[in-house]
Amino acid sequence: MRFNSTIAWIAGAALAVGLFTAASAEQQSVWVGTGSLTGIYYPTGGAICRMVNRSRQQHGIRCATEATNGSVFNLNTVRSGELDFGVVQSDWQYHAYNGTGRFAQQGRFDGLRAVFSVHAEPFTLLARADAGIERFEDLKGKRVNIGNPGSGHRATMEVVMDVFGLSTGDFALTTELKGPAMADALCEGKIDAMIYTVGHPAAVITEATSRCDVKLIPVTGGPIDQLVRDNSYYRAAMVPGGMYKGNEEDIATFGIGATFVTSTEVSEDVVFAVVKAVFDNFEDFKTLHPAFATLDEKQMIVDGLSAPLHAGAQKYYRQRRW
Ligand code: GLU
Repeated sequence: MRFNSTIAWIAGAALAVGLFTAASAEQQSVWVGTGSLTGIYYPTGGAICRMVNRSRQQHGIRCATEATNGSVFNLNTVRSGELDFGVVQSDWQYHAYNGTGRFAQQGRFDGLRAVFSVHAEPFTLLARADAGIERFEDLKGKRVNIGNPGSGHRATMEVVMDVFGLSTGDFALTTELKGPAMADALCEGKIDAMIYTVGHPAAVITEATSRCDVKLIPVTGGPIDQLVRDNSYYRAAMVPGGMYKGNEEDIATFGIGATFVTSTEVSEDVVFAVVKAVFDNFEDFKTLHPAFATLDEKQMIVDGLSAPLHAGAQKYYRQRRW
């Protein structure tokens, strides 16, 4: 849907030089909102689009990804119709559909539709080893990167700060960096800690742990137990030990799931083709990122989905008798 004017211009130019064919007239572009280049949403969108583009002969859809600010941005742009699909955290999918949390003012996004879920995203706290941070509460008085506006982790960080009774006023410094800038700031000693709700292994954490002395910090305790108990979209989670240099132990935290969403404005045929491209080639899909290795098809169509399934997705899952 995006860049319609560009497409119209290209179509016009093609027509002018006599290249316009019936086949190209049927082509349709879909845009997938992801996250920053160093997260996992970006390669997730890339993997989905790769599957779609590989079978373009069959359906005529051209799938393209866009690097974005993350979940909240993606939900808003899928709502406005600027993007067709988005990768979003399950907690913000829930709130967008129900018109709760940070989406209370906008109201319910009735047209939001779930397609499938992808990898788990533990809420991850990474701190400099010399910062004296052993638990979330120790962030008080520290320099903290709370995530860029528009990201799901920033929005979830606000929830976590709230349950621990912390506000940005309690930090010595608050930054809103994204992507590789987070690892740079941590390793250059400009900040003490950063948070990220992300699948593992994540490039930015691999980068920080291999460049300087940083460690993963547990995010646990009464307020977190309560959060998990009260909200179906949260669950206890952990970052497995041995994934990052110098971080050999499992680290307990809580987490959500990365999910793939669209809206009722996107046609049944398009969503069916996208879902079919992924699940007909699922073994290939799983090799496209290490965070996909443990994905299970049947879990992916139920886990972390609060909005109803899109009719096109449902049609495919029925055909497979899932
Ligand atoms: N969970 C983050 C967000 O919702 C993005 C993580 C990633 O890019 O892998 O914005």
